[in-house]
Amino acid sequence: MPTLFEKIIAGDIPADIVYEDAWCVAFRDINPQAPTHVLVVPRRPVVNVAQAADDDQALLGHVMIAARNVARQLGVAETGYRLVVNNGAGAGQTVFHLHVHLLAGRSLTWPPG
Ligand code: AMP
Repeated sequence: MPTLFEKIIAGDIPADIVYEDAWCVAFRDINPQAPTHVLVVPRRPVVNVAQAADDDQALLGHVMIAARNVARQLGVAETGYRLVVNNGAGAGQTVFHLHVHLLAGRSLTWPPG
C-alpha cells in the first residue's frame, strides 16, 4: 500500500512541488503552520528516523541538505527557519513516510507545543 507521499511523488495526487532531485521531492504542506511550510520527502519510503537503517545515512543527509537548499530557494535562509521531523505517532507523525518539515516566515517559539 503506497503512502500518501509516494502517491504525490508518483504524480497520482497533486501537490505544489517547489523542488525535486534524484533522491527527494519538496512540496508545500496542505495545512501550513507557517507562511512557509514545506515538506522535504525522500523518494524512497523510509518510515521515519527510528526505522531508518544505518545504510540510510546518505539519504537522510541528502534530505537535510535539500531542506537547506529549499530554504535558500524560497528566500527564508537569512531570517531563520525550523526543520522538524515528527518521529512516531506519539510525536505527532501522521504520515508514515519520512519527511522534514521546513517552517519559516513567522516567529517560532521554543519549546514547541
Ligand atoms: P506529520 O504529522 O509530521 O506526519 O506531517 C504530515 C504533514 O502532511 C501534515 O503537516 C499535513 O498537513 C501534511 N499533508 C497531509 N496531506 C497532504 C497533502 N495531500 N499534501 C501536502 N501535505 C499534506
